Amino acid sequence: MQQWNAFYELINSDSKRFVILTHQNPDADAIGSSLGWKLYLQKKGHTATVIVPNECPSNLRWMPDYAEVITFDQNAQTVTQSKKLLQEADVICCLDFNALHRIKGLGSLAQSSTAIKILIDHHLEPEPFADFEFSDTTKAATAQYIWEIIKQMGDAELVDKPMAECLYAGIMTDTGSFRHGNTTPEVHLAVADLMRTGLNTNYVHRAIFDNNSLGRTRLLGYVLSEKLTWLPEYRTVYMTLSLEELKRFNSEIGDTEGIVNFGLSLENVVMSVLLIERRDEIKLSFRSVQDFSVRELANKYFSGGGHKNASGGRTSTSLPETVNLLLSILPEYQTQLLNVEK
Ligand code: 5GP
Ligand code: MN
Repeated sequence: MQQWNAFYELINSDSKRFVILTHQNPDADAIGSSLGWKLYLQKKGHTATVIVPNECPSNLRWMPDYAEVITFDQNAQTVTQSKKLLQEADVICCLDFNALHRIKGLGSLAQSSTAIKILIDHHLEPEPFADFEFSDTTKAATAQYIWEIIKQMGDAELVDKPMAECLYAGIMTDTGSFRHGNTTPEVHLAVADLMRTGLNTNYVHRAIFDNNSLGRTRLLGYVLSEKLTWLPEYRTVYMTLSLEELKRFNSEIGDTEGIVNFGLSLENVVMSVLLIERRDEIKLSFRSVQDFSVRELANKYFSGGGHKNASGGRTSTSLPETVNLLLSILPEYQTQLLNVEK
């Protein structure tokens, strides 16, 4: 309560300089919650700028005010601009991530800033760095949380169609278009409220999902037909993509997003893993159903984490070595995997 009162005072105070940060490889919840929150803060009379660590996928660039977003690692100028904004900020908001090291260079800049820090997030076990911590894993999306906070502030009527588009994008994608287990009654209530602004949900869905390049479409077909391995004894599917293959399909940032979910569409499969070769690491994406937690596995063996049914991790070895590591740990989880009801 004390936290809420002080937070309420801060948001309702005279104009402050806000900087909003979100995670590396921003997804629709990261950028949607950030832009929705920025538009709200502006309506409250503040100055607000969104800084993302690296480039946003092209299917998210339609969002209202996206043109104002600063991409930290774009060039020397954006690095200088970001440093200045963070140094001069009164308040830094960290959205959709829970540890400053997850945003690399931007994290240390935020850490050394004297600005008040606000965390709004739905991942487990946040690092204790924020003055105001809104961390709740029962929220399906950070965008849902943003809507609920705005409503609790008594400012629901300030939410207009552009803000609703940003927030809906985050809620829709983090719930897998309202099919994942995190789709609570509160999610549907939030969406019902957002739709009253005139929000066109069909437009948002098409902007995000029906905007693929030919390369991405063909890449998906290639992975599913040539690169998917099914391990029925572990009810697991894994897929790999090398740098060479990504190049062959002219892959752009965001093109591999969502591919891992197709593994779960196979009958009887409980876990799906996508291993992607990047320039400096192997990135793993894990998805699971029901009670099988990929978070524990990602954390224990792949320096990662995330949610119970959607996690990520990385290794600094080669792609074949990483596949071998994955295969070597599966027996440890076999009983658990076989016991899941699907
Ligand atoms: P994705 O597979 O889409 O990259 O990530 C799935 C989920 O796991 C996301 O919620 C993301 O925030 C989380 N995640 C991905 N990589 C990491 C990581 O290295 N550490 C932690 N703690 N979470 C991660
Ligand atoms: Mn999220």
